[in-house]
Amino acid sequence: MTTQPAPDCDVVVVGAGLAGLTAARRLREAGRTVVVLEARDRVGGRVLDVPVGPGPGDVVEQGAQWAGPGQHRILALASEFGIATFPSYTQGESVLALAGRLRRYRGTVPPLGWWTLAGYARMARRIDSLASGLPAAAPWRAARARELDAHTVAAWVHARTGASRLRLFMDLAVRMVYGADPEEISLLDFLAAVRAAGSLGALLDDAQSLRFAGGPAQIPARLATDLGDGVRLRQAVRSVHWAPGHVTAHTDTLSLRARRAILTLPPPLAARLLFSPPLPAVRDQLLQRLPMGSVSKVNVLYERPFWRSAGLNGFAVADRGTVRTVVDNSPPSGRPGVLLAFVAGSHGDDFLGDPPTRDRAVLHALTGFFGPPAGEPVSIHATDWAAEPWTRGGYGSYSPPGALTRFGDERIRPVGPIHWAGTETAAEWPGYMEGAIASGERAAAEILAEANGPTT
Ligand SMILES: Cc1cc2nc3c(=O)[nH]c(=O)nc-3n(C[C@H](O)[C@H](O)[C@H](O)COP(=O)(O)OP(=O)(O)OC[C@H]3O[C@@H](n4cnc5c(N)ncnc54)[C@H](O)[C@@H]3O)c2cc1C
Repeated sequence: MTTQPAPDCDVVVVGAGLAGLTAARRLREAGRTVVVLEARDRVGGRVLDVPVGPGPGDVVEQGAQWAGPGQHRILALASEFGIATFPSYTQGESVLALAGRLRRYRGTVPPLGWWTLAGYARMARRIDSLASGLPAAAPWRAARARELDAHTVAAWVHARTGASRLRLFMDLAVRMVYGADPEEISLLDFLAAVRAAGSLGALLDDAQSLRFAGGPAQIPARLATDLGDGVRLRQAVRSVHWAPGHVTAHTDTLSLRARRAILTLPPPLAARLLFSPPLPAVRDQLLQRLPMGSVSKVNVLYERPFWRSAGLNGFAVADRGTVRTVVDNSPPSGRPGVLLAFVAGSHGDDFLGDPPTRDRAVLHALTGFFGPPAGEPVSIHATDWAAEPWTRGGYGSYSPPGALTRFGDERIRPVGPIHWAGTETAAEWPGYMEGAIASGERAAAEILAEANGPTT
């Protein structure tokens, strides 16, 4: 009989985003030994701030930035670390560009005409009603799940709107939530997101209501500091060898043996790891069905937020062009002034791999919305998340039709000693920072709940 070498730690966590760091923290608190392997030279994953001014809090968020009511985990962590929140800037008028014609308006709903607004109110009620009927933790088990999972969001919306402004508005809203086109996303996935947020209004508005002073990347940074040398950077896991009761993660320079692993990677990246033995067919099939959206965040910096003195709040929404949504993303001090342009889903296809052309298109759009001063920025900070090798898309992955009802239950089912976390596996706020934290807590709890939960 061969004796197995002793494990290096109880649990190896792959990925030092919010999910992985939360899981590691929970396991550490319960007395387990944990090592987090992270491919990048930083922690935080899809949470990334870049400095833009002299003060420590002068940052712009290139990844996640907003939180809102009901996201109690991320808000509790911010409060624990003494990170204040502040409201997104909304004072003044917004800009609506329809067929190239500009209109200014107040409030959250663009002036699309009473007919469109009445249609939107009806559609929102219908969406809220369908969403509220879904079981929160397992929407794919709803009585009508198969029917709802058979349509894309676009097919469902278009069948109820025809070629109208309401259709344009809904397309825009869905693309903003996912960074993917409504033609790609299952209606059931969208309804589950609405269910998780509480209502369509909460998903489209409230979830974007708060920002973090100094940026949300302080949160993973603080979690990692507490974990000390338990977090190893520049350690991209290439392969995972597993058997009942133990697992070894291999990087280019390290092989780490543990009793359990938690994988927190975006699903398409988890699918690219080499598993030995191979993953069960059902898990592999699931991983083949969770593509990432594609989004570039382009933060354009000006000496000051010049649009505010013109009575504008920096929000713009458009029905055509590369940039359909813009927000004021200035730090609380208003210095520098920042306009954040989203290039989301297929609207960015012409620019994938061509940042200079994308940035020119962004400046052209901003000048159209806010006038000539928008064409003279101090600098531009852009991140194309589809081009990030350790993320490969954003904001997260989504389910095309059929995937949830076929494989929903597999999302969190462990494979031998391998447990799954990451925002995509969350029952609450999947796709958000809140979901990432919830998923890390759940994966840690799974391991701790096992009979004689592993200890070295
Ligand atoms: C542009 C953008 C805007 C967003 N805006 C918001 C927002 O406003 N509010 C909000 O709540 N959420 C937002 N999100 C979503 C939010 O950022 C994510 O839901 C959350 O950060 C995901 O955390 P995670 O730990 O699940 O995954 P990740 O953050 O992706 O962490 C996974 C980690 O694994 C690492 N990794 C990958 N491959 C390997 C490997 N082979 N070996 C080792 N490590 C590896 C990665 O480097 C990464 O650090 C946004 C996301 C993007 C991209």
